[in-house]
Amino acid sequence: MPHIVVIGAGVVGLSTAIRLQEAGHKVTIVARDLPGDPKNIKYTSPWAGAHHVSVATGADMRLHEFDKETFGVMSEMIKADPSLPLIFAPQIEYREGPRPEGDTDQVSLLGRYHPDFRRLEPSELPEEIQHGAAFTCILIDTPHYLPYLLKRFKSKGGVTHRATVPDIASALSVSPELALADAIVHSTGLGARETVGDKDVFPTRGQLVIVRAPWIKGGKTRLGQGVYTYTIPRKSGDVVIGGSADANDWDPTPRPELTEKIKRLGLAMHPELLPPEKRAAGRIEDLDVVELAAGLRPTRKGGIRLESDEIAVGGRKIPVIHNYGHGGYGYQSSWGTARAAVQLVEGALAGAPVHSKL
Ligand SMILES: Cc1cc2nc3c(=O)[nH]c(=O)nc-3n(C[C@H](O)[C@H](O)[C@H](O)COP(=O)(O)OP(=O)(O)OC[C@H]3O[C@@H](n4cnc5c(N)ncnc54)[C@H](O)[C@@H]3O)c2cc1C
Repeated sequence: MPHIVVIGAGVVGLSTAIRLQEAGHKVTIVARDLPGDPKNIKYTSPWAGAHHVSVATGADMRLHEFDKETFGVMSEMIKADPSLPLIFAPQIEYREGPRPEGDTDQVSLLGRYHPDFRRLEPSELPEEIQHGAAFTCILIDTPHYLPYLLKRFKSKGGVTHRATVPDIASALSVSPELALADAIVHSTGLGARETVGDKDVFPTRGQLVIVRAPWIKGGKTRLGQGVYTYTIPRKSGDVVIGGSADANDWDPTPRPELTEKIKRLGLAMHPELLPPEKRAAGRIEDLDVVELAAGLRPTRKGGIRLESDEIAVGGRKIPVIHNYGHGGYGYQSSWGTARAAVQLVEGALAGAPVHSKL
C-alpha cells in the first residue's frame, strides 16, 4: 500500500487526505496547525464563512467544474447524514449594474447546477440593484466541519504529526516512518510562500462580524461598485456578516471602521439580522455580536496550483503533488480539487511526466 504524506490540515489537505485513503493509500498528515487549535491568522480554514456560492466565470471553467463537483459531493453528504455541519439553504444574490451578456458570467454559471435557481423579478429587486437570482446553496459550519473532516480521516487509520517544515523535503524527517513515503501532497495554503517560495500566493484579507441570529435560515450577497456584502447563516445559529477583500493586507486585527461598515451594510441588506422587536429601529448597536474576525484567503495569481513535481531526497526521487492557492473558494472547491490531486498522485506513481497539471 503506497504511503502518502500530506502537508497541511486545512480544508484542502484534509479533504485530499480522505480521498487518498479512500483510493487505498496509507496517509499521514504533517501540519503546523490542526482543527481545534485556537484560531490564528496563518491558518485560514477556521476563519471562513462559509457558503457554497461559486465565483467562477467563463474565464475559469476549471474552477466551475471543481465547484460543481464539490456541490454534488456535499449534496450527497447531507442526504446521507443530515447531522453533518452542512445544510441546504435559500440564497439570494443581488447585483448592481447591468446584467452581463452571454451565459458564462458568475450568476449564470450558478444556474447550471444549483437547485431551484431563478432570476429575481424586477419587483423583488431593492433600490440600486439591477438584477439578481435566488437558488438553493449549501452552508458550511466551518468550526464544526474541520473537526468532522479530521475525525473522518483518523477513523480510517489516518495519523497526524504537528510540525512546521521549512520546505517539502523536511516533512520526510518529521518521523522515522515518513522517510520512505512514496509521494507527498503539498497543501499549505499561504504557507507555500515559504515552503516552495511561491510569491504568486498572496493574502486577500476578509473581515467578518459574527452575530447570534438563529432565526435566519438563508443567506444573501450584494455585489457592486465598492460594495461586497454577504450574510452566511451557520447551522449553529450564528450568522457571519461580511465582508471585505483586500489584497496583500496581512493585518490580523479587525479594524473598527470596517467592522462598523460591515454591520451597517449587512443590516441594510438583511434587516432580519435583528430580532423582530428591534427591526424597525434598525440600529447596528442592537446586533448580538459574538465575534469580530479577520482571515487571509490564500489567493494565487493564475488560480489553484494542481501540478505534479518531484524532489530528490537521499538519492531517491519522490513525487510531489501541489494542491494550494484556493483563495476565497477552498471549501466550495475542496472535493473537486481533492479528486484531481489524487489523480495526479496516481499518475505520478505510475510514471506520468513531472509537471503534469490539472
Ligand atoms: C473571511 C473568509 C471567508 C471565506 N469564505 C469562504 C466561503 O464562503 N466559501 C469558500 O469556499 N471559501 C471561503 N474562504 C476561503 C477558504 O477559507 C480558503 O480557501 C481555505 O480555507 C484554504 O484552505 P487551505 O487548506 O488551502 O489553507 P489553510 O486552511 O491555511 O491550511 C494550511 C495548512 O498548512 C499548514 N502549513 C502551512 N505552512 C506550513 C509549514 N511550513 N509547515 C507545516 N504546515 C504548514 C497549516 O498549519 C495548515 O494546516 C474564506 C476565507 C476567509 C478568510
